[in-house]
Amino acid sequence: MSARSFLSTGRKIVAIGRNFSEHAKELGNAVPKSPFFFLKPTSSYLPNGGSIEIPKGCDVHHEVELAVVIGKETRDCRASHAMDHIAGYALALDLTARNLQNEAKKKGLPWSTSKGYDTFTPISDFIPKASIPDPADVHLWLKVNDQLRQNGNTKDMIFSVPQLIEHISSIMRLEVGDVILTGTPSGVGPIKAGDVVTAGLKPDSALRDSLAVKFNVIDRQSTS
Ligand code: MG
Repeated sequence: MSARSFLSTGRKIVAIGRNFSEHAKELGNAVPKSPFFFLKPTSSYLPNGGSIEIPKGCDVHHEVELAVVIGKETRDCRASHAMDHIAGYALALDLTARNLQNEAKKKGLPWSTSKGYDTFTPISDFIPKASIPDPADVHLWLKVNDQLRQNGNTKDMIFSVPQLIEHISSIMRLEVGDVILTGTPSGVGPIKAGDVVTAGLKPDSALRDSLAVKFNVIDRQSTS
C-alpha cells in the first residue's frame, strides 16, 4: 500500500471510544466492559500538513490515536488471526466538537455531527506494519503550540488491537484500506484558530520518534 492510498481506498473509519480508562474518567464516562465504536466519514481525512478547520460555534478537542490500516478483508475474524489482516498503521487525530457531542449524549442522538466535519480526521502517511513491531507498546504524544497535552502509551488500552478487530468484524466486514482509530489517552483539550498542533509516535523499542505530523488551525470559512 503506498503512502497515502489508503485514504482513497478505504470506505470507512471505525473509531473506538473510551479505550483508555484515564480518558474515560476525564470525560466522566464509565470504563466499558466491551468495545464501543462509531463511524466517521472518510471525507473528514486531512493529510499531514493541512489546515484543521474550526466550524463556527464548535469547541473542538484533539484526541491523538494510533490508526490501524486494514490490508486484507476479514469478517468474523478471531483475535488470534487479526494481525494477518493489518497492512500497517498511521497516526491520527480524532477531532471532536465536544460541545455538540455533549449535547448529543444528553439527547441520546448520534455523534455524526460532532465527529464528522471536514478536516476532523487529520492523519499521517502510511506506516508499514514492520515499523511497529508491537501495536501494544507505542508511545503517542500531542502538543498544541509548545504545550505537551497528551503523552500516553498504547499498552494502557483496555481492548487490544486484535480484540478490536475481532469485535468490529463480528458486526461489519473490514475491507482493504479501512481504518480503525483505536482510542485516545487522557489529556484531550481545546484547539482554536492560530494554534499549531504537532503529534508523534514512537514504538517503545525505537530510540526516537519514527513519525511526526503538523497541522495549523484556522476558522472554517463559509463557502456559500
Ligand atoms: Mg477518539
